[in-house]
Amino acid sequence: MTLLDINGLKTYYRADNGWVRATDDVSLSIDRGETVGLVGESGSGKTTLAKSIIRLLSDNAEIVDGSINFDGTEVTELSDKELRKQIRWSEISMIPQNAMNGFDPVYTVGQQIVQVIRHHEDGTSKKEARERARSLFDELGIEPDRVDDYPHQFSGGMAQRAMIALALALSPSLVLADEPTTALDVVIQDRILDTIKEMQEELNSAMIMITHDMSVVSETCDRIAVVYGGRIVEIADTETIITNPRHPYTLGLRNAFPDINDDDQELISIPGTPPELVDPGEGCRFAPRCPFAEQECWEETPEAESYGDGHAVECHRADEIDHLQEEAGKKETWTEQDLGRPEDSQSDQPEEVMLDD
Ligand code: ADP
Ligand code: MG
Repeated sequence: MTLLDINGLKTYYRADNGWVRATDDVSLSIDRGETVGLVGESGSGKTTLAKSIIRLLSDNAEIVDGSINFDGTEVTELSDKELRKQIRWSEISMIPQNAMNGFDPVYTVGQQIVQVIRHHEDGTSKKEARERARSLFDELGIEPDRVDDYPHQFSGGMAQRAMIALALALSPSLVLADEPTTALDVVIQDRILDTIKEMQEELNSAMIMITHDMSVVSETCDRIAVVYGGRIVEIADTETIITNPRHPYTLGLRNAFPDINDDDQELISIPGTPPELVDPGEGCRFAPRCPFAEQECWEETPEAESYGDGHAVECHRADEIDHLQEEAGKKETWTEQDLGRPEDSQSDQPEEVMLDD
């Protein structure tokens, strides 16, 4: 059953030189209890999408188009007060990229968890809320007495666990985990991911797992959405994304991260960097880095094509799957000198953005 249904979402940031199209026409729907990964390099728009869902965007951001339907409620239309009372923490919670910033330094971690619980549950006493915080700490492997510590007394790993405790305290139906382990060392990363998965399964919450690391999503998610340049360029079940991807960017990402089943894999990185998203104009946003880009790719934004079973790809050349997959596995395919705009194609003027104000 569908829990979250995002349609044609556009979230832009106002910048000095125009609109940064960080989420640019994204549609995504998630079932109850499902885990969907958002994977893509830094700057692809993953955090912006998550913050749009829970409406925690910065002041210069604006949802300019599209809808976010959460369990029958149109999130884009809620007031701040309604969001705080009906949605945030109780229904949708977020584990932010850097947990330390998620806590207020002047209150103990326990006080903050108690406050969130009591804000949403009128009948819960301070004592009961505190007991719940203690038992969550216990489940997450933190000594319960440390609820009385201030955030700065926690290590990075502990702050991350405490944030998970806060995110799960009210059994939300959807957890947005934004790079929950990126700041931590590898050993702790695995343990925290296991903990998140266990708790999520216990609560039967849906989850959006955000990461730049292909290995993390492949181990934790039912489906994977590959994000590039503010768009979902490919989406499918995890198995398909790992074994049979059709988008050159997905193929590139797969080359760049170690495959747990292949010890001899040679890692190949994608040359170049993600695009500036200020008025990007027409054409595939991956074209400047894509070894397979042709004239059409520079000129026309690809529409999502369906390849069955919920597999959708935004690439003009996705039909040439066998060729792409074979070539993408070779290191020489990804050398910088082979990339770039073909000589004869003309640069298109960026399309005018019409926004009120
Ligand atoms: P990711 O989480 O994938 O790294 P983000 O959603 O943080 O991506 O960023 C997407 C794009 O939006 C980037 O180009 C980034 O520079 C831009 N961006 C993010 N936050 C802001 C902001 N507050 N103001 C202007 N641009 C922003
Ligand atoms: Mg981010």
